Amino acid sequence: MNSKDIRTQFLNFFKEKNHKIVPSAPMVIKDDPTLMFTNAGMNQFKEFFLGNSVVKNKRVSDTQKCLRVSGKHNDLEEVGKDTYHHTMFEMLGNWSFGDYFKTEAIAWAWELLTDILKIDKDSLYVSVFEGSDDADKLGMDTEAYDLWSAIVPKDRIIMGNKKDNFWEMGDQGPCGPCSEIHVDIRSAEEKAKISGASLVNKDHPLVVEIWNLVFMQYNRKADGSLEPLPEKHVDTGMGFERLCMVLQGVQSNYDTDVFTPIIREIEAITGKDYGKKEETDIAIRVIADHIRAVAFSIADGQLPSNTGAGYVIRRILRRAIRYGFTFLNTKEPFMYRLVNVLTENMGTAFPELKEQRQLIENVVKEEEHSFLHTLEQGLVLLDNVVKQSNGKEISGRKAFELYDTYGFPIDLTGLILEEKGYTLDEKGFHEAMQEQKNRSRSASEVAKADWEILMNDSEQEFVGYDVLETKVKLVKYRKV
Ligand code: ATP
Ligand code: MG
Ligand code: MG
Ligand code: MG
Repeated sequence: MNSKDIRTQFLNFFKEKNHKIVPSAPMVIKDDPTLMFTNAGMNQFKEFFLGNSVVKNKRVSDTQKCLRVSGKHNDLEEVGKDTYHHTMFEMLGNWSFGDYFKTEAIAWAWELLTDILKIDKDSLYVSVFEGSDDADKLGMDTEAYDLWSAIVPKDRIIMGNKKDNFWEMGDQGPCGPCSEIHVDIRSAEEKAKISGASLVNKDHPLVVEIWNLVFMQYNRKADGSLEPLPEKHVDTGMGFERLCMVLQGVQSNYDTDVFTPIIREIEAITGKDYGKKEETDIAIRVIADHIRAVAFSIADGQLPSNTGAGYVIRRILRRAIRYGFTFLNTKEPFMYRLVNVLTENMGTAFPELKEQRQLIENVVKEEEHSFLHTLEQGLVLLDNVVKQSNGKEISGRKAFELYDTYGFPIDLTGLILEEKGYTLDEKGFHEAMQEQKNRSRSASEVAKADWEILMNDSEQEFVGYDVLETKVKLVKYRKV
């Protein structure tokens, strides 16, 4: 089944169960000071759960564009190294706002996965909240346990602790136990080698969490205590790319048709083959992943920049450009050439990609061009720093020089050093950054004074700024 059909099947299933299918909220959030990017399907419904908005449809389902690169959910380090964490991914979800609860949520999840999508029941595990003996003194989620044990053999039900199986919105607000569904995608031969209890290992890299069903039934009060919610809610999230992996019978999200067209294009452009060498493969996966994050952000109106959400996007893009430069030998802009195939693949489900295609290509190309300009010199500098270093920790001041002069985001410098077996003095970096801020504050006072003098100088005419990124680097004047 191709990925387009999988997405449609999910939504149709819940449509038939009387859910209203709603569009994805933007991935870039403009009006919430606590969150820069949507990181879960429930974000756009937060006000419903908090009781601040009136619910029109009590049952809703969608696919939500998510980005997990900052804050509580930051998967950036995993991306490319493993094969199932992405920066940008789609989260399929169904919600009940004070309508159905555990009985339906569990039964429907199972029906969809096993009856409709035909996933082998023997490859599935489910987890249930085991309770806690901390201040909350919560009992085990026996309701969920009983519901699962009616459909799943008991040895496939795993008990989970508060960290994994209890969801909270924040320090206060709705919360409750959750049940996760994991799929064992190991081959039959691999499974045959292991037997008995050790087969049940949800931490094995090929036993992958695909769906999380959250049952909101408590409210955490300001004093930390819990009270039952008057209305109970369901909030589920399933990784679309992971579901495609399972249904397409492959062991990596990158081997599904969500990614293979992009990977083929990277191979065609760079002349490198995917699947031959680990370091090349990581680079290809990172690029295939990051172009999606960047393209979807730009389509949402967030351009790369030097601050806030824009800097997150710039960092992601520069990270991918460096992977290409070092491991795929790409010395010219090339990522912008992937936008076409991405749009062909996903433009129907997300028309904003089609609408903004030209802009995305232009912006990515320009960013690639400007970073490639300094990347090589920066890498040479970093190499020299490493060669001259006595210990294994590299000075934060050097990292700052790379940031300031060559446009290397701090995490990129950290990543390159890690590859070389070195660490970075981040504290020193931030100190150097602060010192520069202080310096530029006094410099801007001088600049203001100069400006006043120049403005009074009738022999000069202002002809414009030279703008490098967001910094005004130089003010040009011409004698008249
Ligand atoms: P994991 O333990 O694998 O990091 P999670 O518990 O952090 O996942 P949830 O917050 O429960 O994930 O999100 C719901 C679903 O979204 C997960 O079950 C998974 O299928 C998917 N998912 C989560 N993070 C990612 C990611 N970075 N890339 C792709 N899919 C993801
Ligand atoms: Mg996670
Ligand atoms: Mg998890
Ligand atoms: Mg989870």
